[in-house]
Amino acid sequence: MTQTQTEAKRVEELRQLLQRASYAYYVLDTPIMEDAVYDQLYRELQQLEIQYPELIAPDSPTQRVGERPATHFTSVRHNIPLYSLENAFNVDELHNWDQRWRRQLPTTDSVEYVSELKIDGSALALTYENGVLVRGATRGDGVAGEDITQNVRTIRSIPLRLNFDGLEAIERVEVRGEAFLPLEVFKQINEERQKAGEQLFANPRNAAAGTLRQLDSRIVARRRLDFFAYTLHIPGMDDASIANTQWEALELLQKMGFRVNPNHKLCASLVEVAQYYEYWDTERLNLPYMTDGVVVKLNSFKLQEQLGFTQKFPRWAVALKYPAEEAPTRVENIAVNVGRTGALTPLAEMRPVQLAGTTVSRATLHNSDRIAQLDIRIGDTVIVRKAGEIIPEVVRVIKELRPDDTEPFVMPSHCPVCGQPVVRESGEAVTRCVNASCAAILKGSIEHWVSRDALDIKGVGEKLVHQLVDKGLVHSVADLYNLTAEKLCTLERMGQKSAEKLVDAIAQSKNQPWSRVLYGLGIRHVGSVNAQLITEKYPTVEKLETAKQSDIEGIYGIGAEIAQSVYQWFHIDANQILIERLKAAGIQFATQETELVTKGNQKFAGKTFVITGTLPTLKRDEAKALIQKAGGKVTDSVSKKTDYLVAGEDAGSKLEKAQALGIAQLTEGQLLAILEE
Ligand code: NAD
Repeated sequence: MTQTQTEAKRVEELRQLLQRASYAYYVLDTPIMEDAVYDQLYRELQQLEIQYPELIAPDSPTQRVGERPATHFTSVRHNIPLYSLENAFNVDELHNWDQRWRRQLPTTDSVEYVSELKIDGSALALTYENGVLVRGATRGDGVAGEDITQNVRTIRSIPLRLNFDGLEAIERVEVRGEAFLPLEVFKQINEERQKAGEQLFANPRNAAAGTLRQLDSRIVARRRLDFFAYTLHIPGMDDASIANTQWEALELLQKMGFRVNPNHKLCASLVEVAQYYEYWDTERLNLPYMTDGVVVKLNSFKLQEQLGFTQKFPRWAVALKYPAEEAPTRVENIAVNVGRTGALTPLAEMRPVQLAGTTVSRATLHNSDRIAQLDIRIGDTVIVRKAGEIIPEVVRVIKELRPDDTEPFVMPSHCPVCGQPVVRESGEAVTRCVNASCAAILKGSIEHWVSRDALDIKGVGEKLVHQLVDKGLVHSVADLYNLTAEKLCTLERMGQKSAEKLVDAIAQSKNQPWSRVLYGLGIRHVGSVNAQLITEKYPTVEKLETAKQSDIEGIYGIGAEIAQSVYQWFHIDANQILIERLKAAGIQFATQETELVTKGNQKFAGKTFVITGTLPTLKRDEAKALIQKAGGKVTDSVSKKTDYLVAGEDAGSKLEKAQALGIAQLTEGQLLAILEE
């Protein structure tokens, strides 16, 4: 296939998929993909159509607004079409929009913008004659919508008669705005639907659109839709100086009796618009309704009129959307990494995509089971998700967009680093390289040994570790302690001074406590908190080496899997040799007297804790073990007997109950601070 044929096929596939999505979204009110995914695929189609204009078809989703709905309502033609809005996904794109309209209409005058919140609901067109509501219609395909006047009448924030003081001469008024469901109501509706075994609404927007098209207006009335007005049309209104700007129109709408979202702002520059956008990025999460961006409009109606509309959008407005947490992108390669435990981890290398404010181009695919489950192949279009601080992950493949010549991914049978055969034990999802002298395993274990929570050796980073291993200066963690400045000076770009500093930093690590040493050994399942718990019970390595597996398991917070892993590790000859060598180098394998002083500290004696939500760094079990170690008790449910609630992100009903009972709350940071005091 030639390049153009491949692109033509892609255009056709994108078009078909977007058409299906658009129908599901606008007509069935049951989206089949996330909005952000739709937006990104739409953009790809748009760019391909710009590149290959001969591929544009009149029915392409880029050529029209919404869909003509298939319902039982009468279709009505709008007096003035209802347009969609052009999207911008960041401030740079906002500037592009600004430059574009300025090219069309060069102006040196200062320009005002009105920034409004983009309410995520369903657009309504209301017609008033002599001040009385005569028609309410949905947007439909922008040219014609459905007459839903009966339903619109049930929305209490839509006046049936306008407050027309001084405006009596006006015959017809067109008002546009957004009907939406407050989050609380949306939650309730979905709870009721769940109870009734009905399909849930995907989001408040679809719930609002679905509600507006209910045939029974009593149901609509019960659902408590709300409405914010944002556009006013009165024939000849600027000639008559009724309103010359969007700002004045919003004021007038309010006077007429509409609810106007109070958070709009008059901005003298794009810098102010950008500040507004940034402010609402987090603040909008406290609003009782959904927003999905900011709408920026030129304030002057004169400018608006001069600029006019494209086939789909006004040129004088733009929707500046907030960073998406999910987006589609293409997998260019599946690489396989080998970690310090020998685990082979497949990694998707993808076309860079913007997610939650960062550029994402790689995501772990975990193991071959996960790949098989998702059936990810090189060349696939996949959906990647990254929320806030969470590591990006591939959530699914868009199979409709799969190229013809893809092959299922197969895990290599040999380690990509040392070339030795790999093994996958039965019942395990992970494929491993078991060659103890594999350079990847060695590099990984040294990186772990020097890491911040382990021996914390400053100056020894990934690059240096690779050089040390590749040059054959280090064959084991213990070899770090035989390095001299002379040997280090043989490495690229290593001066005498830096080499001496490194030797010094390595020597300093001999003072690190036994708990960090145990963690640094990199035994599977032994994180820093577990290492702490184990070394409290076993203050010397000799005691731990001779402990029974069941004794190790007896430690608070240490489960069977961890105990088994520790026990087995100490019964491998090579590990014994490593310990002997490290001992000879002067590493601490016993808890010092000074550390023991704090041991009797039972700060939380007699106190009962409940942990809820996701803590930023500690796992539930780890937090529990720390509290128990300080004498506290951890229970599952909040009651009057609870002394403290440790709450993390997404804390739900337990947090509400604790607040109602006036129970003290701690963040993970506060908990750790108390324990460290
Ligand atoms: P839009 O929702 O991106 O923007 C236009 C709409 O914004 C207007 O019609 C109006 O209803 C609304 N709006 C809210 N507040 C406003 C304000 N203050 N001023 C002016 N308008 C305001 O455009 P659209 O054409 O309604 O829909 C396109 C979007 O719908 C896409 O970007 C996509 O996110 C979503 N979509 C999703 C799917 C899917 O499968 N998930 C399918 C089709 C469309």
